[in-house]
Amino acid sequence: MDKKILVTKSSMPSYEEYIEAIKPLWETHWLTNMGVYHAELEKQLKDYLDVPDLSLMVNGHMALEMTIQMMGFPEGAEIITTPFTFISTTHAIVRNRLKPIFCDIKLSDGTIDESKIEELITEKTVAIIPVHVYGNVCNVEEIQRIADKYDLKVIYDAAHAFGIQYRGRGIGSYGDASIFSFHATKVFNTIEGGAVSFSNHKYYKKLYNLKNFGIQNEELVNAVGANAKMNEFCAIMGLCNLKHMTKVFKNRQKLYEFYREEIGKIQGIRLFEEKAYTTKNFAYFPIIIQEDCCKTRDEIYDVLKENNIHARKYFYPLTADQACFRNQYKNVNIHNARKLSKQILVLPMYEGLEIEQIKNIMNIIRG
Ligand SMILES: *Cc1c(COP(=O)(O)O)cnc(C)c1O
Repeated sequence: MDKKILVTKSSMPSYEEYIEAIKPLWETHWLTNMGVYHAELEKQLKDYLDVPDLSLMVNGHMALEMTIQMMGFPEGAEIITTPFTFISTTHAIVRNRLKPIFCDIKLSDGTIDESKIEELITEKTVAIIPVHVYGNVCNVEEIQRIADKYDLKVIYDAAHAFGIQYRGRGIGSYGDASIFSFHATKVFNTIEGGAVSFSNHKYYKKLYNLKNFGIQNEELVNAVGANAKMNEFCAIMGLCNLKHMTKVFKNRQKLYEFYREEIGKIQGIRLFEEKAYTTKNFAYFPIIIQEDCCKTRDEIYDVLKENNIHARKYFYPLTADQACFRNQYKNVNIHNARKLSKQILVLPMYEGLEIEQIKNIMNIIRG
């Protein structure tokens, strides 16, 4: 039996590099609570991501939950968002006792359809949470125009968009805030981790307070926060991994380009449109299997699995259609999102995947 190929595999520094880097912790015994490595990683990521300010978090989900909490929206307020995303995006809204209002997406790139946002705005709308899904950059100009017109906050879920630049600016510099995920399965990882980027410097103190239980000082707790701090072992993993990102992106680009050429030869499979003035991070390789393909999405998924290649149906089912929401959103008009979720398949993509393995994947798809 061939060895199992998963959709992703975590990039890691060498064992020696990491062990050497964590050695000082045995001197200081300072393992978490905003240590020196936490501070250093914040500084380096702020530069690397080209964002005005940044706060590290324990993971991407808490980054989003805390950012929404920080905005202080009234209970029951509405947030316009996309159902074509990881469940975390929707959960972060609902867990803040706010109401997700699902907007349809564009089939061309999977991001929120900005032309359908305005019709969903009511007097209860407070924010828009779009997702740069697979690193496909949303229409940030039009979303900002709408937000300005109706006085709404914009929080981007940029969990897939690490390192992406749009019109010469870090993607995390758009909107009021953006959240990143540094989960082990993401293109850059701190084992578990995440961050919020923003330009309003007041947010730094607010997030610092919220991620540390709302503790202001030894005797004062002035907010109902949580524990969302990144520990030093994770921060060091991030510092080590960050050093190798140029190599990681180069390696992924080679795979991406090979995939793209091969997929282009298969009838009925298309790729997302590419946006101008945008850099890529090659984090994922999503394909869209249309009606005129010789196999359905599920047939391709199944035959790959029989060959021990584990592609993923990201994002199927849509978050709005998940069991926990008990058919609440059954009648919402998210036609394109439902259609795309039945055609999408994310193929294996990670540093160290081999061209020969991609050839094999293509043969199985064609086969
Ligand atoms: C991974 C992911 C998150 C959550 O990040 P974690 O670090 O796993 O908590 C949120 N949104 C999207 C779109 C993601 O892919």
